[in-house]
Amino acid sequence: MIEISGLTKTYGTATVLDGIDLRVDDAQIGAIVGPSGAGKSTLSRCINLLERPTSGSVTVNGLDLARLRSRELRTARRQIGTVFQSANLLRRLTAAQNIALPMRHAGLPDDELRARVAELLERVGMLHRANHYPSQLSGGQRQRIGIARGLALRPSVLLSDEATSGLDPDTTAAILSLLRELRTDLGVTILVITHEMDVVRSVADVVFQLDHGRIVEHGAVADVVRRSDSSLSRALLPLPAAAAADERRTWTVRYEDARVNPLWLSQATAELGAPIAILAALVEEAGHTTVGRLTLGIDPALDPHKVTSTLGRHGLTAEHHLRPLAPEEVVA
Ligand code: ADP
Repeated sequence: MIEISGLTKTYGTATVLDGIDLRVDDAQIGAIVGPSGAGKSTLSRCINLLERPTSGSVTVNGLDLARLRSRELRTARRQIGTVFQSANLLRRLTAAQNIALPMRHAGLPDDELRARVAELLERVGMLHRANHYPSQLSGGQRQRIGIARGLALRPSVLLSDEATSGLDPDTTAAILSLLRELRTDLGVTILVITHEMDVVRSVADVVFQLDHGRIVEHGAVADVVRRSDSSLSRALLPLPAAAAADERRTWTVRYEDARVNPLWLSQATAELGAPIAILAALVEEAGHTTVGRLTLGIDPALDPHKVTSTLGRHGLTAEHHLRPLAPEEVVA
C-alpha cells in the first residue's frame, strides 16, 4: 500500500506539486494521468525519492519515506521499484546482469542472486533471453527486463513511469497484461504514471488526474466512467464520433454491462411508445467491467423526464442534449 499525503514540491518560487493526496492499496493498480507539464515526472521522482518532497509524506507499509535520513532512505527505497520509459538498461550488461544489478548493490550473496535472477526472468517470460544484450532485444523485451529489475528487491510498490510510451499497441497490451499478472500473483501495489488513457482504461483500478500540480479528479475507474459531468470520464471514454456532430439533438447514455437490462432497447421502445435510434456506440473494458456510451435519437415530442426515468429503470444513465431531434430525423 502506498499513501501520499499533502505532498508539495517547489522549485524556488514555482510550486510544481501542491498538496497531493492519494492512496493505492495492496494488489491494486493506480494510474496517475495528466497533460504534459501537469507534474507527473516530478511526482514520480518524489515517490521513488529520487527527489525530496518540499513537504508532505510518502508512506509505504506504514513507513514515511520522506522523513528518513539518507542512510535509512537507501534501504527503505527498496520498497519501491521503478520501471522507466524505454527501460533504461545498461547497454554493456546482459539482461540477466541488468536484473542482478540492484541485488549486487544490496549485497545479496551470489547463489541467492543467481536463483532470484532466474526466477525473475521466468516471471517476465524472458528466461530464453538471459544472455542477450539490450541492443539484441525488442522494445517490449527490454521493458520486461526493466520490470524484472524493478521487482528484484521484492518491492511493495512498483512504479511504472511512462513504461509503455513509445511501444506499439500489441507490445503495450502484453506489458499491461504482465503488470496485471504481477498485481494479482504477487499482490504488489502498482502505480502507473502515463499520459495514455488507453493504458488507464485497460489496467487501472483507481485513477488520479493531475493538473497544474493538483489532483483535480480521482476515483475507481469503474465509478469514474459512469460520471456524467466529468472531464476525466470524458477523457477515459470519449463520446462516439457521431455524438460530437449531433450533440445538440441527441441523448448520451452510459451504462455498465453488469447493471443494464439486456432487453432495454425493445422494452424501452415499447414503454415510450416511440422508436429509439442508436446513432453511435462505444463499448470498452474499464476497471474490470464493461462500460458503454451510446448516442440515441429519440422522438423530441416525448417528455425528457419520462425518457430519463424509463432508461434509468433499465440501468442506463441518460443525458439530454439541447436541440431535440426533428421527427423526420428519427430512424428506428
Ligand atoms: P509532466 O511530467 O506532467 O510533463 P513535469 O513534472 O515534468 O510534468 O513538470 C511540471 C512542471 O514543473 C513544469 O512546469 C516544469 O517546467 C516544472 N519543473 C519540473 N522540474 C523542474 C525543476 N527541476 N526546476 C524548475 N521547474 C521544474
